Amino acid sequence: MIFARAVSLVNARVVADGGIADSIRFSSRVLSIGERPRHGDTVVDLAGGFVLPGLVNAHDHLELNHYGRIKVRDRYANASDWIADMTLRLASDQAIRAGRAFPLTERLFIGGLKNLLAGVTTVAHHNPFYAELRPTMPIRVVRRYGWAHSFLLEGRPAGARGEPGGDVAARWRATPSDAPFMVHLAEGVDAAARDELPRLEALGCLAANTVIVHGVAIDGDGWRRVARAGAGLVWCPASNVFLFGETARVHELIAGADGARVSVALGTDSRVTGSRDLLDELRAARESAPLSPEALFRMVTCDAAALLRQSRAGRLAVGVPADLMVIPPRADEPGSALLQTARRDVRLVTVEGRPLVGDPALAAVFLARKVSSRPLCVDAARKIADSGLVRRIAGCPIAEPGVSAA
Ligand SMILES: [Zn+2]
Repeated sequence: MIFARAVSLVNARVVADGGIADSIRFSSRVLSIGERPRHGDTVVDLAGGFVLPGLVNAHDHLELNHYGRIKVRDRYANASDWIADMTLRLASDQAIRAGRAFPLTERLFIGGLKNLLAGVTTVAHHNPFYAELRPTMPIRVVRRYGWAHSFLLEGRPAGARGEPGGDVAARWRATPSDAPFMVHLAEGVDAAARDELPRLEALGCLAANTVIVHGVAIDGDGWRRVARAGAGLVWCPASNVFLFGETARVHELIAGADGARVSVALGTDSRVTGSRDLLDELRAARESAPLSPEALFRMVTCDAAALLRQSRAGRLAVGVPADLMVIPPRADEPGSALLQTARRDVRLVTVEGRPLVGDPALAAVFLARKVSSRPLCVDAARKIADSGLVRRIAGCPIAEPGVSAA
């Protein structure tokens, strides 16, 4: 066989734009949904497994995922106090200094691997788009975006090489109106955090492309103004609860209570404060607010893609890139099944039709797409993965806990 074959996944539950279908055909793109396999396809029976669009993680700092969780106090009132503690720790803590000494390429790779193993095929990175990102990442990183770190770090270093956090208003003005502008806002529970939304509005920076990250301190009146502007929220409940013991009342924003319907996407943030990966974050989200599995599912697929202006991500339709995730049928409905999925359970992840990691039982997909595979161990589960990826994992000086070339 010289050319890669198309793959037909059958006896499946495919979560597509038009509803649930029983099959999907793909090469690098989705070729058809709910149609019979064609002659020459490699046909794989999924025994009822769900085929989902690759997930979208709406907030991460890809170079900060190898430290583990760090805080000095039990509770903070504002992210500024945590940043001050971290600045002190950075100077004194040997483990953090060692973590920072790894090459940026390696640090970013661990961030990419964290996301890939959880079925994330598109991630929004908050910080500069480092030159190292493009050759390093096994998954897609949103390329077209504007960002400022926060009002807290205006004129102060925020990036891996000390790149400034940026002047919020200047960065907002420099962002095209059809690209997302992402900024940490109201990350705390004190008066200073409450003042940030009015400050953003006074600068004229609350608009339809504004993506507020955190928003913990925004009250009902504030959310009504956010809704009127058409701006959105990236919600990182695990990080918020870790630092502040509370998070935004997202179920009210989604329900549109009080005239404030706001689009919400879920993000992990980095592991310095957030959960291990987006699958764990989904469970943290469910514990933080009374949200339906369907609403949570939208926050990591179509709603996240819409907020990030990624029209071909977070959905399955004919012609879109074949960024897929296959999970076991542990429930009748995809959101509930996803909530019962940890990264060791993920049966397959493809980016642009290229299988990157999956169960040994799905080796036929790797063969069809002409991707050589090697064993990989993920949290004691036997997997196979793209051999180049396994070599990269084996050669990375930073170990990802639970993952090894088997
Ligand atoms: Zn963040």
